[in-house]
Amino acid sequence: MKEVILLRYGEIHLKGRNRKFFEDLLIDKIKKSLKDIKCSLKQISGRYLITDFEETKKLEIIEKVKNVFGLISLSLAWEIKTSQEEIENMSLNYFEKLNEKKDLKNLTFKVSVNRADKKFPMHSDEFGAHLGGIILEKFKELKVDLSKPEIELIVDIRENGFTYILTEKINCKGGMPVGSAGQGLLMLSGGIDSPVAGYLMAKRGLKINAIHFFSFPYTSLQAKDKVIKLAKILSQYTYNIKLYMVPFTKIQEQIHSNCGENYMITVMRRIMFRIAEKICKQNNFDAIITGENLGQVASQTIESITVFNNVVKEKPVLRPVISFDKSEIINIAREIGTFETSILPYEDCCTVFLPKNPIIRPKLDNVLKQETYLNIDELVDDAVQNTEVVLIDY
Ligand code: ATP
Ligand code: MG
Repeated sequence: MKEVILLRYGEIHLKGRNRKFFEDLLIDKIKKSLKDIKCSLKQISGRYLITDFEETKKLEIIEKVKNVFGLISLSLAWEIKTSQEEIENMSLNYFEKLNEKKDLKNLTFKVSVNRADKKFPMHSDEFGAHLGGIILEKFKELKVDLSKPEIELIVDIRENGFTYILTEKINCKGGMPVGSAGQGLLMLSGGIDSPVAGYLMAKRGLKINAIHFFSFPYTSLQAKDKVIKLAKILSQYTYNIKLYMVPFTKIQEQIHSNCGENYMITVMRRIMFRIAEKICKQNNFDAIITGENLGQVASQTIESITVFNNVVKEKPVLRPVISFDKSEIINIAREIGTFETSILPYEDCCTVFLPKNPIIRPKLDNVLKQETYLNIDELVDDAVQNTEVVLIDY
């Protein structure tokens, strides 16, 4: 008998002929998340198993593996050779141990059996009832409750000749393994929304790269560090990130000197999208990701989104938090650990030269007119050429 960690995966069950591709990616990501911990990982049909770890590392392993997209739940379990007698002994042993710790009087329980190994002689329900009977006979103070038991003893009889006995399933994050859906370029500001957007798209299988526009000296070096810190936090879920740092000062100064004040933000955002698309094309990234939302602030209108989309010609722009309330985004930001960093006070380049009355329902014709006052191609090329890449290793 030994203690193991049992991992269950979700949607990749459904992937038919591509299943191997998804499984290999998932194994790779589980291994990556455990890279600093001594343990073994193996696959059995329908499950993964982590074994041979030190007792003291158990919780750390669970915390790390919980973040691997593609897994739906995990459990600490006792592994025993499949035999009716062994399972009965182990189950009784569990309640004996529990009895040493607490009073079993009126404690409710249920036994659930999952029989993947059809060679096991009794059917799931039949064996569950049998096992429950044996336990009750020995611990008469227990009570059976099939709908809301305080303790559910789960007996998972697998096809590899082993049975796993457990009492708790810990939820993982679900989703698809990172990298299974291609690569995205996340427009990462220092705010609350964009890290959440990156997290959500990684959850659906996109490998995440990031791009940040900064306007030194109008924005401080701390603002840059903050974005690097956010990317590091994200990398716990997305693994290595290539972070493209784009110098944006000249572009903002040019817009400020040449374009109508009200259109500054719109023109600036369209140039950001042009640069993002160019970097996507150069690196074969498949999509741009933003933390944009509809209606969160006055400028986030459908008309704005229309003129932004108009400038991106070949890549889709994914906006996973478009429909979320701010409080919903904040909840996710807290859960993934980016919130405290996002609310540090450093300025984003969007707030440099902020106009008094930005156009909130821009018309494309007017925006195009404003853009004729700039040499956009040159500005874009120049910014791309001077972009630095920061590698965030996980
Ligand atoms: P966030 O909380 O992500 O900063 P926001 O609510 O402040 O979003 P905006 O400032 O309108 O909204 O920015 C919308 C999106 O544009 C951001 O979510 C991000 O994807 C992108 N963005 C804004 N500023 C930058 C920047 N300096 N570098 C990269 N992307 C940016
Ligand atoms: Mg912002």
